[in-house]
Amino acid sequence: MKRIAVFPGSFDPFTIGHESIVRRALLLFGEIIIAIGKNTNKKEFYPIEKREEWIREVFHDEEGVKVMSYEGMTVDFCKSRNARFLLRGLRTAYDFEYERAIAQVNKAMESDIESVFLLTSPEHTHINSSIVRDILRQGGNASKFLPGNKVLKEKIINETPK
Ligand code: ADP
Repeated sequence: MKRIAVFPGSFDPFTIGHESIVRRALLLFGEIIIAIGKNTNKKEFYPIEKREEWIREVFHDEEGVKVMSYEGMTVDFCKSRNARFLLRGLRTAYDFEYERAIAQVNKAMESDIESVFLLTSPEHTHINSSIVRDILRQGGNASKFLPGNKVLKEKIINETPK
C-alpha cells in the first residue's frame, strides 16, 4: 500500500524552505498532499486559489505531489485522503514546542496517524512566510526565498496585495 503523507500549512506564501521539505520527504512517501488549511486565526495574504496554483506549478513534474485546500481538522482531512502520516518541518526549538503539542493532540484524537518531522536544511532555517510577506509588502526583493523559475517568482511578486 502506498504511504501517503499530508503536509499541512498556510503556505502564505510557499517558500523554498517548504519546497525543500517536500522534495526530501518524497524519498519517504509515495504520495505527499500539500494541504493548504483555511486558518480562521490568520488573515490571508494571498488568495488560497493562487497559493494552490503556484504550488502546483512548482511540482508540475512530480507525480507523487498533490495540492489541495481543506477546512476543519487536519486529522479529519488525513482520514478522508487515507493518509497515515502528517509531515511537518522543524526549524527551531520554538517550532519543536509548538509542533509537539499539536502532534500529541492529533495523536490523542487519531492514534493511527503518525506525525513525521524533518529538520530544516541549515540554509533554510531563517526563512519563514511571515518575514517573506513583510519583504513583499515593502516592495523588497523576495525572489531568493520564493520557489520556481523566474516567471513564477514574478507572478507571485506581481500578485502582492497593495
Ligand atoms: P503553519 O501556519 O501551519 O505554521 P506554515 O506555512 O508556516 O504553516 O508552515 C508549514 C510547515 O512548513 C510547518 O511544519 C513549518 O514548520 C514548515 N516550514 C516553514 N518554513 C520552513 C522552512 N524555512 N524550512 C522548512 N520548513 C519550514
